[in-house]
Amino acid sequence: MTAVTIERVETIALRIPYDHWAPKPTFGEIERTTLDCLLVRVTASNGLVGWGEAFWGGWQATQSALEQWIAPLALGQDIADIAMTARFERALHNFGRSGPYVYAIAGLDIALWDLRGKIAGVPVHALLGGKRRDRVEVYASLLAYGGNVENVARNTTRALERGFRQIKLHEKTTAAVAAARETTGANIPIMVDTNCAWLPDAAFDAVMAMKPYDPLWVEEPIWPAEDIEALGKLRKATGVPLAAGENATGTLEFVRVVAAGIDYVQPSAVKNGITAQWEICRTAETSGATCVPHSPYFGPGYLATLHILAAKEKTVALERFFCDLGHMPYGKTVPIENGAVQIPDMPGLGPEPDEELMRFRA
Ligand SMILES: [Mg+2]
Repeated sequence: MTAVTIERVETIALRIPYDHWAPKPTFGEIERTTLDCLLVRVTASNGLVGWGEAFWGGWQATQSALEQWIAPLALGQDIADIAMTARFERALHNFGRSGPYVYAIAGLDIALWDLRGKIAGVPVHALLGGKRRDRVEVYASLLAYGGNVENVARNTTRALERGFRQIKLHEKTTAAVAAARETTGANIPIMVDTNCAWLPDAAFDAVMAMKPYDPLWVEEPIWPAEDIEALGKLRKATGVPLAAGENATGTLEFVRVVAAGIDYVQPSAVKNGITAQWEICRTAETSGATCVPHSPYFGPGYLATLHILAAKEKTVALERFFCDLGHMPYGKTVPIENGAVQIPDMPGLGPEPDEELMRFRA
């Protein structure tokens, strides 16, 4: 059989307006008025098209990395070659072990898995050993309300009304966690993402203050994110389950996170690609941790995460940013309804991005 090879690699950046029912949060001191998405479109020599997605943060740099460096490397390569993206990562390793180049390779990797599934006529989860479940729960990942307890309480109520049964906050204060707990009552899991809020010395008191509200996990309580040793000490000292990993890249870094006793590891498909994400996930769960992928994005990375959640050992919920989007990618084809989603069974990742989405091209 002649190889099916990569004929073209293109990027499409999308900026989608959103409403989270409160003043817009800032990101890097810039008001965040859109949720962005960098699509990677790979055309194969047999005419099939695969779709990937690279991390949205600083997507302009990632787009440039893809177009200037990754696409030229990829052209003519055999799509069946699963070692390809690891080889590119090694070839470009001194451009950064995380960041735009690694995210660009991740976006390509997702598109290649989509193509491998389409070529074989099977869903991606079948290529990962088969699905262990037909649907997964989805948790409402509230955007940051900057400690405004009214907004936290009101939007926690809104999430429950829309059928979500698990809530994540992006807040740093005990008052915000208390407001959410008061709203949900005792039986709804609440996760608290603090986005690296504290230096190691300050983290103990802050996390202990949240403990009475029974968080399922506290996420990234320590800055810098890579201070895994401090995270491990905090876990032991507080007894509060911790989550980390959205800022880690590569299997070895996750081995360190698991070895430190972190309960929940959070590799991101759009930062690692499916190849590495799957390896990280399996390695972590074999060692007793639980893999809860970071997934606050809406494009093919959303579908990629669903296939991993379908095929992995432990059942966990999918993360979803809780907001109304100007247009919901896959809103008709892979809808989230009543806090749950059906795993796609079409070849590859599933449906193509819809045409209407292209109205939001940057
Ligand atoms: Mg997070």
